[in-house]
Amino acid sequence: MIHRILVTGGAGFLGSHLCERLVEEGHDVICLDNFFTSQKSNVVHLLNRPNFELIRHDITLPIFLEVDQIYNLACPAAPGHYQFNPIKTMKTSVMGVINMLGIAKRCGARFLQASTSEVYGDPDVHPQPESYRGSVNPIGPRACYDEGKRAAESICMDYRRSNNVDARIVRIFNTYGPRMHPYDGRVVSNFIRQALRNEPITIFGDGEQTRSFCYRDDLVEAIVRMMNNSEGFAGPVNIGNQGEFTIRQLAEMVMEKVGGESKLVQKPLPTDDPTRRRPDIRLAKEKLDWEPTTPLSEGLQKTIDWFRSIDIDDYQPPTP
Ligand code: NAD
Ligand code: UDP
Repeated sequence: MIHRILVTGGAGFLGSHLCERLVEEGHDVICLDNFFTSQKSNVVHLLNRPNFELIRHDITLPIFLEVDQIYNLACPAAPGHYQFNPIKTMKTSVMGVINMLGIAKRCGARFLQASTSEVYGDPDVHPQPESYRGSVNPIGPRACYDEGKRAAESICMDYRRSNNVDARIVRIFNTYGPRMHPYDGRVVSNFIRQALRNEPITIFGDGEQTRSFCYRDDLVEAIVRMMNNSEGFAGPVNIGNQGEFTIRQLAEMVMEKVGGESKLVQKPLPTDDPTRRRPDIRLAKEKLDWEPTTPLSEGLQKTIDWFRSIDIDDYQPPTP
């Protein structure tokens, strides 16, 4: 069945891949983005497709659209990006989700919220199941993102309970791949950029903190399955790769693949940086019949190949 689908944040790293997939499937896709952390080049190849439309718009402001599915991905996702204007980040999560849920309510559209593993904060349960309620510092520099996303989850569930909106929630763990913004400050993009330029690889803290890295194709597959599951399963559901690596191991893998002469340097650990993170994905397996298939080594190689193919200086850090 062909749907009319709105993808907010559709020009971003994950959003642009999702738009691509939905356009290929023949849906009518409206990509909405304010280009805060992305650029048109991510979707320029879709502009001549008759079933793709691009709107420059900020989701903190209302907009009137007719659609039957909404993927709400608009929100800066990298710490450097979301801390750039923390109040705007909170507004995007809270006012943005209310505006988009308003469209869902009026149109009877199905709604999928891109939440995050950051709702678990610096977790004291490991790996993290969906039932874990998290350990977030509500007043720290990451709170604009973590608490914004937690509030967005609450709002989704209230629209379900009070207004019968079919809102669904995915909690996305660290995801990487081609089209990550080279200057987003995230660990994968930083390490690849630094290695390609023979610059020092910046390890924050002792590098023993862990993350689990999911390749973008696996992620896109999961969120499409979540949107389309016919059981009405609403989540929240964890989406991520269970492989757990220390940041030092990641640095070594990137250096080995890129070659070059970069050396590791240690920098201070940012405030409230989670010590470890790994998703419990049993629920995704059970309800969506999904699990990731791309090993880190393969996904990193594809990401490095993409970084080699672009001019990194075409990408600029975000502006207000
Ligand atoms: P991204 O920064 O590449 O994409 C976000 C997009 O949203 C960008 O195109 C940006 O310009 C747009 N945007 C930001 N604020 C907006 C606003 N107010 N109005 C309209 N557009 C706006 O990041 P991404 O990695 O593609 O993340 C996409 C979504 O997935 C985000 O909601 C993020 O929180 C979530 N997520 C991502 C990860 C990850 O590891 N990539 C992990 C957890 C959650
Ligand atoms: N990190 C690092 N060097 C960098 C960038 C990040 O050591 O140049 C660390 C960071 O402190 C964190 C981990 O890598 O422990 C993942 O950081 P990222 O910003 O990618 O994601 P998040 O902290 O949101 O999971």
